[in-house]
Amino acid sequence: MTSQRTRERLIQRLSEQGVTNIRVLDVIRNTPRHIFLDEALSHRAYEDTALPIGYGQTLSQPYIVARMTEILLGASGGKLEKVLEVGTGSGYQTTVLAQLVGQVFSVERIKPLQDKARDRLRQLGLRNVQLKHADGGYGWPEMGPYDGILSTAAPRAVPDELLAQLAPNGVLVIPVGGQEQELHLVMRDGDTDKFVTQKLEPVKFVPLLSGTTR
Ligand code: SAH
Repeated sequence: MTSQRTRERLIQRLSEQGVTNIRVLDVIRNTPRHIFLDEALSHRAYEDTALPIGYGQTLSQPYIVARMTEILLGASGGKLEKVLEVGTGSGYQTTVLAQLVGQVFSVERIKPLQDKARDRLRQLGLRNVQLKHADGGYGWPEMGPYDGILSTAAPRAVPDELLAQLAPNGVLVIPVGGQEQELHLVMRDGDTDKFVTQKLEPVKFVPLLSGTTR
C-alpha cells in the first residue's frame, strides 16, 4: 500500500486535478505520508483524502496540500526564505514545505499533536523546522517577518496579526469562512500596508480556534 506504484497513482491524480508545479509533485511523491497517520489508517495514506489524526483534527487531503504549496511558491516572486505555518497538525504539510523553502516556523494549539509531529520531523531528519505550541491566530511575531504564511485552519476573517507579519511582497494562503469557506491568497503590496486579496476556490478546513490545549 505504501509502494512506489500507489504513490505514483496519487501523483497522477494530482496532476489530473490541475497541480502543475513539478517541484511540488516531486516532493509529494517522495514524502512518506503513511508515517503521519496512526497504524490503523496508514494503509489509506496515499488516497487523495483527508484522514483523522485524533483530537477532532485531520491530515489535509494531498490535493489541497499540493495546491496551497503551489500557490504559495507561485505567488512569491523570489525564494521563500522564511515561511510560517499555522496548524502543524500531523506535520505533513510542514514536511512538504520544509523541502521547498528555507526555514519553516509552525504553530499548533494542541500539544499532543505537536509532540507527535516533532517526533516525525526528527525521524525524517528535517533540520529547518521550528515548532511552537501556541495560538497561531497571533502568528509567531518574534520569528517574522515571513515571505510566506500558510494556514491549514480556517478563521472567519483573516487575522490582522498574520498580515502584520508578512515581509514586503509576502504572501498569505489561508482558508476563510465558516460552513462555506474559500481559499484566499493575500499579497502585501511591496513594503506598504496595502494588501491585495484573491479568492481562489471553495475549500473545507477545520476551524481556526483560539487558545491552546495541553
Ligand atoms: N497541516 C496539517 C493540517 C491539520 S488540521 C496536516 O497536514 O496534518 C489543522 C490544524 O490546525 C489542527 O491540528 C488544529 O489543531 C490546528 N489549529 C486550529 N486552530 C489553531 C490555532 N489558533 N493555532 C494553531 N493551530 C491551530
